[in-house]
Amino acid sequence: VFIAFEGGEGSGKTTQSRLLAIWLRDQGYDVVQTREPGSTKVGMRLRAILLDAVHQGLSARSEALLYAADRAEHVEKVILPALYRGAMVISDRYVDSSLAYQGAGRSLAKEDVTLINTWATGGLVPDLTVLIDTPPSIGLTRLGGAADRIESEPLEFHERVRREFRALAAADPDRYLVVDGTLEQEQISRLIQDRVHEILPD
Ligand code: C5P
Ligand code: MG
Repeated sequence: VFIAFEGGEGSGKTTQSRLLAIWLRDQGYDVVQTREPGSTKVGMRLRAILLDAVHQGLSARSEALLYAADRAEHVEKVILPALYRGAMVISDRYVDSSLAYQGAGRSLAKEDVTLINTWATGGLVPDLTVLIDTPPSIGLTRLGGAADRIESEPLEFHERVRREFRALAAADPDRYLVVDGTLEQEQISRLIQDRVHEILPD
């Protein structure tokens, strides 16, 4: 079972994916908790390039390709091997982040971003995507100041990102859980657990 977490800056994806991993391990599941970008050796170097403020102005197309390269490495070296051995995989971000940030955020054509990512991942799609939907004004405030290259983009950029995440979820409601990121942390984890419970293998 492959579960992806998506959402904007400061939405709580990292916290909630960790809490879900703990909850599943407590039930005896083998869980691989991972994230993008940066879950492989090469991915860590790509992450450093992608987030460094010195690369402000990086071409949108190279940004999209570098994220896709990180993802190809992630799928081949981490996600697929874990799924083959029967583990549950929880990833903090996946393809939807590229559709939202590089597609809607950087205004690259959605078909192109979809195409390079379908190729990069070999078409691997999560069984469930949890979207933690948070207004950017709240998420960015939680971070307490922009830390990386993307976080320092203007609010409109983050609004476009949020709109795209919501549109992706609305287009495929069976494969998404959308949670209100302004709820209490425990409420959010309960909603996620209830939904994940439905897709657990025995
Ligand atoms: O999730 P995390 O905050 O660690 O992601 C690192 C940064 O990379 C974020 O600022 C996010 O906006 C950015 N990002 C991106 N495009 C992606 C994935 C992440 O711009 N496809
Ligand atoms: Mg961040």
